[in-house]
Amino acid sequence: MRNMPAVLVVEDEPAIAELIAVNLRHNGFRPTWAMDSVSAQREIDAALPDLILLDWMLPGESGLSLAKRWRANERTKAVPLIMLTARGDEADRVAGLDAGADDYISKPFSTKELLARVRAVLRRHSPEPTGEAIVIAGLSLDSATHRVAFADQALKLGPTEFKLLHYLMGHAERVHSRGQLLDKVWGDHVYIEERTVDVHVKRLREALGAAGAMVETVRGAGYRLTAKPVVPVAVAAKAMAG
Ligand code: CA
Repeated sequence: MRNMPAVLVVEDEPAIAELIAVNLRHNGFRPTWAMDSVSAQREIDAALPDLILLDWMLPGESGLSLAKRWRANERTKAVPLIMLTARGDEADRVAGLDAGADDYISKPFSTKELLARVRAVLRRHSPEPTGEAIVIAGLSLDSATHRVAFADQALKLGPTEFKLLHYLMGHAERVHSRGQLLDKVWGDHVYIEERTVDVHVKRLREALGAAGAMVETVRGAGYRLTAKPVVPVAVAAKAMAG
């Protein structure tokens, strides 16, 4: 079940919602249907979906307004969102994308196109490989077996440190802010402070031992996992002197 992405379909026309839901279900997704902004918000409050398909024209609050609201909200801003609409002209398309939609599908659409766009948006949002081993500079992580090793020595990590390392290794050499790490690693947790990230990074470094230096602090920006850690000048000088 865990690998079936949850898709929230916000659409007031039952025939279209049903068509979308049936196709999603037959293609390995878990669709939920909300027919207006109020029930959509209720679904979102209960659990964050992996993706939202949002109709523009809804009774009550419009899809565009909902998209803006979700994008402005810390908890929902990273959820991939595709707008559905009969309004196909360029100005509307731009308005949809400006509101924070990741993509835009004009009605009428083929279910093939819909599925292709859903998959493409999900791929863009979760580039980390699942169930595969990642190896960077002797540090290896196997998400299928939950094993981490450095230079063939097995390492013991807590579950959060494992998730954190998995994310960092899946997006190596890139700098991630504490807020981004909270979104990606902790996910659906609203009340966690950014300082929590620092605590787990510290634990992760300790657990990694000699490979701990690969988790770099980027001053004023966040953290990065790198294959080539920068050795502090003082330490390097000492090493040369000694
Ligand atoms: Ca509609």
